[in-house]
Parts: sequence; structure tokens; C-alpha cells
Amino acid sequence: MTGKRYFPPELLSIFLANLKPAVKQLIVGKSVKGLPIHQLQLGSGPLKILMWSQMHGNETTTTKALFDLIPWLLEADQASLLQTFSFYIIPQLNPDGAKEYTRENANGVDLNRDAQAQTEPESKVLSTQYQKIQPDFALNLHGQRTIYGAGIQGNAASLSFLAPAADSKRSLAPAREHAMKAIVAIYNELRTALPKGIGRYDDHFNPNCVGDAFTQAGTPTILFEAGHYPNDYQREITRKWIFNSFKALFWYLYQTEEETEVAAYFKIPENTKNFVDIILSPVNIEDQGVLYKKQQLAIQYREELKNGAIAFVPTYHGYGSSLQLKAHRYIDATNLNLNEPLVFLQDQSIKNPELNILFSINS
Ligand SMILES: [Zn+2]
Repeated sequence: MTGKRYFPPELLSIFLANLKPAVKQLIVGKSVKGLPIHQLQLGSGPLKILMWSQMHGNETTTTKALFDLIPWLLEADQASLLQTFSFYIIPQLNPDGAKEYTRENANGVDLNRDAQAQTEPESKVLSTQYQKIQPDFALNLHGQRTIYGAGIQGNAASLSFLAPAADSKRSLAPAREHAMKAIVAIYNELRTALPKGIGRYDDHFNPNCVGDAFTQAGTPTILFEAGHYPNDYQREITRKWIFNSFKALFWYLYQTEEETEVAAYFKIPENTKNFVDIILSPVNIEDQGVLYKKQQLAIQYREELKNGAIAFVPTYHGYGSSLQLKAHRYIDATNLNLNEPLVFLQDQSIKNPELNILFSINS
């Protein structure tokens, strides 16, 4: 099984070829560039669950977790789940983006802003399957950048969830309430194992987002965001947290008598953009000819597809004498012998070879 961040259609094909015959496989449409969009179906229960991943092609962790979920569902211990639910899974809604490692599809459109306009073939596929299946519950599976903390006091947001709003007043519509309670169930199950690492995503209503549109149409929908866990840039640990979230969710939905409170949803810390990958200090920085001494320098990785793998390219993010940011890694520059001030470049690239080695991640 893959341990990497890149999950292109070729890799999906290998996973699909290894699925047991109990999983029904369908091609439900094609991408802009003509790649097939696959749908998997398992279970024979009355409650229909629709899940889709890699709507954003570079968000691969939840796709990997789906291929942990499927064999688990087929184990004898989960027979009651397969009798209760029918799972409809689109593991890679945006195969062109998955191939190029882009968020958008081949036309440069963000499919999660296309729920109303439906200009893209991939959006039409999801909408058509939604209409056909009429799911009782929907899971919108995504990945988030390393910039998020689980609240100001929290650690990195390794997992974030959202019960999308159904209207601009963000009212507690029944579908939304159902999704909130399910998120609370996941949160209660995982919070001890992942302390200060679970966040609640921003619930500003945007009907162009698929989750908001489905909630508005009355389907409880959960947005999953697979995030950063310390030193886990390949997101193999987060992959397990996502898998554990699936398990918690489906057993919760199965055991409906187990009540949770909507109020508890609002107590989950709200996602905060307060992290960078690295803070290096103290360093002297030259920016447009001006020298700034004893600065904290924030470094953020840019993900680039290079030779069939994802490279994490360090880039300058910003600097200051006292940054209001946390870092996944702090580096003390005192003994680095940086004799010359670092030059803060407009293109954010880092020209210092020693620093590039220091910042490198094995990919
Ligand atoms: Zn996304």
C-alpha cells in the first residue's frame, strides 16, 4: 500500500484491481480529459451513505483512508454495518487534478465552488449520483494545509470537521443538526487519543460549496479535512485518524440511541490559521536593502509534483521580531554560522543551499 502523498489515477487503478468482488465497481462519468470517474458500492442496508474524495486532486489522505475503510467493512465483525448501510464511494472525483496534483480540475475550476453553476463534467457526475442515490448521509472528503491549528491554544489541526450551513443565517436545520451530532460522536471518540488536534471548520454559508448545497437540500453532510500531524508530511498518521473517524461515525450512525448534544459541537475549537512549517531564529534578514536583526523567519513548504512524487519546497513566508505564529518545527539558528544576512526574495525562494538541506523533508 502507498505511503506517499501523491495518489494519481494510475495508483487508484491498482487499488481498484485489488478490491474483493463484494465491492461493486462502476464508471459513472468522465473528467475533462476523458479519465474515468469510478464509483464503488458495498453493503445492502436501507441507509445510503454517499462519500467522495479527491474533489480537490491534491488532497489524497482521505482517498488512502477509503482503501483502509473498504476492507475493514468487509470483515465479519462489521457485517451488521453492511446490513444497515449501503455505501456509495467515489474515491477520486477529480482524476485530472489527481494526476497533475492540483486542487482544480483540468479547466482550472475549483469543483467545490461549482455546486450551483455545474459547469464542469465532474460536478455533473457528483450531482447526478446524488440525485440517483438520494443519500441519507453524505461525506465530503478533503485535506487541509499545515497552516491550521485546532484553536488558538491547540496543536496542529490533524483533523477538522464541518457540518455545513444550510442557509446564510447558519440556522440549525434538521440535516445540519444531524451532521453536528455525528461530528460530536467522532470528536468524543478521538479527542483523548488526539488531544488538542481536532478542529471545527469555518461555517460561513456558501451555496457554491457542495456540502452547503447538499445540506440545504436536506441531506446531513460532513466535511472531513485531513490535516497535519507532527512530522507526518506524507500524512500516513492522519490517514489512520481519518480511518478511525470513519469507524466512529458509522458505529454512531448504527447505534442511533446513543445521543449527543448539538451544544457540544460549538465547543470543538474553531480552526485557526496560526501555524507555519518552520520558524528559524534568530536571524538577520535583508529585505529590499534594509537590514533587520534578530528576526524570526517563518518558512512554509510549497508542494510540487516532481518526477512522480511530491517535493516539499521551503519558501520564505514572512519574518518579524515576535511572530504571532506557531511552527511545526523550531530551529535555533544561533550555531548555524549564518555570517551573511538572509536575503528575503520577492519570489519567496530560498537561495541558501545549507538552509535548503536543513529544511528538506524526505519524500
Ligand atoms: Zn479540499
